[in-house]
Amino acid sequence: MPDSLTRSFANPPAALLERRFDLPDEDATLAFGGRFAKAILAARLARSNTSNTSNERFPGLQVQLIGDLGAGKTTLVRATLRALGHAGRVRSPTYTLVEPYSLATETGPLELYHFDLYRFADPAEWADAGFREYFDAGAICLVEWPQRAGGLLGVPDLEFTLEQEGEGRVLIARAFSETGKSCLESC
Ligand code: ADP
Ligand code: MG
Repeated sequence: MPDSLTRSFANPPAALLERRFDLPDEDATLAFGGRFAKAILAARLARSNTSNTSNERFPGLQVQLIGDLGAGKTTLVRATLRALGHAGRVRSPTYTLVEPYSLATETGPLELYHFDLYRFADPAEWADAGFREYFDAGAICLVEWPQRAGGLLGVPDLEFTLEQEGEGRVLIARAFSETGKSCLESC
């Protein structure tokens, strides 16, 4: 892989906040997804209440989900979507790379994009598919296997690392932006 694609993972920036969550069973992951969904809406609301021009709209949120196959990344995305009011299926975007969701939340419409870049091979695909626009449009972008896109993604607002511990999971969450930090504080 070229340097530009691996750099941000080789030299991660310092986190503004780091928190650890023990998720001993799937219910704990579902509960965390519920708190995270509330935190996203609260962070967006706080932003729209303090900005006085439309140019200062909610900048969106990029969340990178790191962990082996079976670590629970998709489970966490599914829990977040449910808590944001999505009632239908949540497909793993393993082949499509991205699944879009238009959500009607209690605080207004919200666009969410669920990426799984496990099969991502060619950076040109990124530009051709218009993925960049998703990240610039005030949307929530939840990205499984962000390592596969390396530097294309830039530094996320939040990074969630999931690891197996016994029968359960441990989530290490790091915030790299003020939006990410305020979100993580209320999880
Ligand atoms: P990934 O997307 O990381 O490959 P999935 O979410 O598809 O992983 O699968 C994770 C598996 O682990 C699922 O079978 C799910 O039921 C289980 N799981 C998820 N969270 C937990 C948890 N906190 N404790 C135990 N099992 C979990
Ligand atoms: Mg998955």
